[in-house]
Amino acid sequence: MRRPDLHLHTTASDGQLDVWQVARLVARADVTLFAITDHDTLSALPAAADAAYERGLAFLSGVEISTEGDEEVHILGYGVRHDDPVLNAFFRDMQEQRVNRVRLIGDKLKALGMELPIEEIIADAGSSVGRPHIGRALAARGFVRDTAEAFNRFIGNGKPAYVPRLTPTAADAIRLLANRGAVSVLAHPGEIRWPVERVLERLNEWQRAGLMGLEVYHPANRGHYADWERIAREKHLLVTGGSDFHGEGASHGMIGETAAEWPNALHDAWKLFRLAKQNESQGVTL
Ligand code: AMP
Ligand code: ZN
Ligand code: FE
Ligand code: FE
Repeated sequence: MRRPDLHLHTTASDGQLDVWQVARLVARADVTLFAITDHDTLSALPAAADAAYERGLAFLSGVEISTEGDEEVHILGYGVRHDDPVLNAFFRDMQEQRVNRVRLIGDKLKALGMELPIEEIIADAGSSVGRPHIGRALAARGFVRDTAEAFNRFIGNGKPAYVPRLTPTAADAIRLLANRGAVSVLAHPGEIRWPVERVLERLNEWQRAGLMGLEVYHPANRGHYADWERIAREKHLLVTGGSDFHGEGASHGMIGETAAEWPNALHDAWKLFRLAKQNESQGVTL
């Protein structure tokens, strides 16, 4: 069956596989239209477009912007240009903020008697250093058994070495994407750590900022697809979906899996595809 998957991660952020490996699995899963949506970076997009071309797959460039701290309010942007100077400057600032925050976590851990080679961890981590790297380093030095214990005792939200991330508001991310000619979609509404009523209230505000779609068919919404689909249709938001694949055996979806439960998958996905491509090819002002 031909199906879309509009939410995939690679090693450019916290996925386990590079774009070539992801494209191979995309083709094998009979996914014919896919988007790469790494966290806060556009760096995988040129290679992803090449990999898609080689395999004759339709490809949409994307990104997933972290907003509102650690509440899992993520904004997907489609039709972004990998060389967009404004977006790239914005993501560079976010990376700097991540680095500074990891240094602060390192200070707190040191005060608790656990010294880590923070600069080494930062240098090895790639473009989005975060708590998973700290957790693995704590485990490697025997301060904890595993990353889960590191979160539970030290670096999870509200724990003694926790430092929040300073992230843009969702409305800011939506406006930025709109200004750069991209289509913005609210990712995995069911994963947001707010009561549903609060998400629905904010949806109105975000639509005024330029939000154009809702990621209904995401594994976090399973069991509630019909509800989110109805909300999207009522609000005239595009319906999108994807697996949020991070690697085989990683704690997210498998490529193409949500399309099986998505009645109008190809129709909905092509609607987003056309809109995003239109914007992308019109270009953006520098
Ligand atoms: P950060 O972006 O640095 O705040 O780290 C967030 C990431 O840490 C999430 O994407 C998860 O992959 C991971 N994470 C969050 N909470 C936990 C937890 N309790 N145990 C293990 N990993 C976690
Ligand atoms: Zn991720
Ligand atoms: Fe997300
Ligand atoms: Fe994601």
